[in-house]
Amino acid sequence: MLHHNSDDNRIKEILIVGGGTAGWMAAAAFSHVFKNQQCRIRLIESDHIGTVGVGEATIPVIQKFNQMLGIDENDFIKNTQGTFKLGIQFVNWGSIGNSYIHPFGPYGMNMGYLSFYHYWLRMSANKQSIDPGEYSIAIQAALRGRFMPPANIPNSPLSQISYAYHFDASLYAKYLRNFAETRGVERIEGEIEKVVLRSDDGYIESVKLKDGTPLHAQLFIDCTGFRGLLIEKAMNTGYDDWSHWLPCDTAVAVPTRNVTAPLPYTRATAHSAGWQWKIPLQHRTGNGHVFCSKYMSDEQAKKILLENIEGEPLAEPRFIRFKTGMRRKFWNKNCVAMGLASGFLEPLESTSIHLIQSSISKLIALFPMADFDQTNIDKYNELLTSEFTFVRDFIILHYKVSQRTDSEFWNYCRHMQVPETLQKKIDLYQSSGRLFRDNNELFDEVSWFAVMQGQGLQAQHYHPLADQITEAEFDKIMREIKAVINRAANAIPTQEEYIAKHCSAINR
Ligand code: FAD
Repeated sequence: MLHHNSDDNRIKEILIVGGGTAGWMAAAAFSHVFKNQQCRIRLIESDHIGTVGVGEATIPVIQKFNQMLGIDENDFIKNTQGTFKLGIQFVNWGSIGNSYIHPFGPYGMNMGYLSFYHYWLRMSANKQSIDPGEYSIAIQAALRGRFMPPANIPNSPLSQISYAYHFDASLYAKYLRNFAETRGVERIEGEIEKVVLRSDDGYIESVKLKDGTPLHAQLFIDCTGFRGLLIEKAMNTGYDDWSHWLPCDTAVAVPTRNVTAPLPYTRATAHSAGWQWKIPLQHRTGNGHVFCSKYMSDEQAKKILLENIEGEPLAEPRFIRFKTGMRRKFWNKNCVAMGLASGFLEPLESTSIHLIQSSISKLIALFPMADFDQTNIDKYNELLTSEFTFVRDFIILHYKVSQRTDSEFWNYCRHMQVPETLQKKIDLYQSSGRLFRDNNELFDEVSWFAVMQGQGLQAQHYHPLADQITEAEFDKIMREIKAVINRAANAIPTQEEYIAKHCSAINR
């Protein structure tokens, strides 16, 4: 028999520990969902400890998060020094001198039963060096420094524009803090010294601040970053270490003054033992060199970073250490870890903030009663494990299919044995030019194609149905698609013009 939820068995107290991007995203979302004061939500953060201070590039699904909260896009961009992102440009990944963009949104248009990439493969079987980027509105707009949101023009490439944001992470957290506090979230400033577990079942009973104040709750959200203060230090949940597949373990970051108008895409430039990001914001550019300490010293990494930035540095370079992998359980008893406390896959495809968003939406979908049904917990862990694993495979792909032979690091990456799930995808593409989006994974065929083709992985065959169009007709269609995309890209305003008109930053 189906029972009514009893009020006694409802979660009435949530304590979010940590006020970085993860903590404030969770606080904003819960404050929005738990309307009418059903649940008391508190967040503890320590100004003394601070936040990781990076994490400024996103992927398009973040729009859904902001929309769910009812956040106005222009207001959000104005308050976070934001810019728009149409994809990621990968420089020197396939080989030194090679460059391609992994775009958001599709290539060309789908014809009949097939995605466009099958037709591109047919075309490239006949001719040499055809850049698929010529068939992508996102890539053509990005290369011209242009941006606009999708237009409601049926059958136009302008209706296919898909985008994400770059923003100042500390301003995003501040923006969400204001959102959450306005909706009743109580912020506590303080440093947690001790986590008290219940002796009978190991559930978290309370956390104790340095001044001795105990804070009780039923559900604890661990957003303490790499520390994993609750999920790991107190509960010993365990961590799956993926550094044999994703060997970069350090980043050195430095912001610089803008010397040109911000580009509407992230740049990821490969170096001899890692890669460097460039994230253009309205008021500055974020730069960082992610590298593997086994193959490069801190000094070398810093030197390479400083030699490859454009504007004047605005701060001293700062080092951040990490271990790629994921927590063995994201939800353990009455503790759910989010953000860096739940795992880290390195920032190559800007997926961490998305994984926070995904953790929040899945926790809302599986939100427990106070007796913590284990089947709910198991489902949550299963879903997030699958999400992390798919993203992991996609990031490993970039390292594995590089053709670089110029350093020990790249030789290691080319020869490493990758997870079977990834190897199967590579084999399938190589042998028959087919790609599949497994179990609704985050990255679709367009993304897999962009990286595989961009880095020179050759498919040996293409789909037979792509031959159904006659040669003459096929050439004409392909030429037309290219021309339409070219014209559409020229009709888009520059990002600078778009921002000046709609969302120039406050305090620029
Ligand atoms: P943190 O920002 O570290 O916050 C931890 C919080 O816990 C802080 O408020 C701290 O004060 C609090 N805390 C810790 N211990 C205590 C204690 N004892 N008592 C009280 N409070 C405590 N993600 C992307 O999506 N895109 C990117 O481009 C990207 N780039 C990245 C680059 C690098 C080099 C790294 C390392 C990460 C990057 N990420 C990126 C990931 C992104 O930075 C994080 O996912 C995001 O910032 C969330 O961090 P967090 O809130 O989990 O942790």
